[in-house]
Amino acid sequence: MPEKEMRCIICPAGCVLRLSYDADGPALLALSGADCTRGREYAEQELTDPRRTLTSTVKVRGGRFPLVSVRSAAPLPKHLLRPAIALLRDLWAEAPVEAGSVLLDDILGTGTPLLATRAVPSQAIKSAMIAL
Ligand code: SF4
Repeated sequence: MPEKEMRCIICPAGCVLRLSYDADGPALLALSGADCTRGREYAEQELTDPRRTLTSTVKVRGGRFPLVSVRSAAPLPKHLLRPAIALLRDLWAEAPVEAGSVLLDDILGTGTPLLATRAVPSQAIKSAMIAL
């Protein structure tokens, strides 16, 4: 029966979870080290379908800043993070960008959109302000 340790990342307590599992499932058989029930949910998710929220930046065309910070609207399957980051390298947002705006409707067929997490005004606004 395989065993492993992992740190729960659900809250800042960061409990170290010790689990044993059936590798064929995979299925969780025993767990210790969790200070709350969310630790079990996290361990089961990590065993069967590990996911992470994608956070990165996207280039902005015509913006006051060259990049806008972005995140996936929901956690993505962990194995898709690298391909998703590669996808973002070729993505451009057009200024102005509103915080919360959808920059990509569907990240790699997951149905999860990519959202801007800050606003980037257009360069024209900055130029107009300098002119004043
Ligand atoms: S097991 Fe519970 S208390 Fe411990 S890190 Fe996870 S969520 Fe926080």
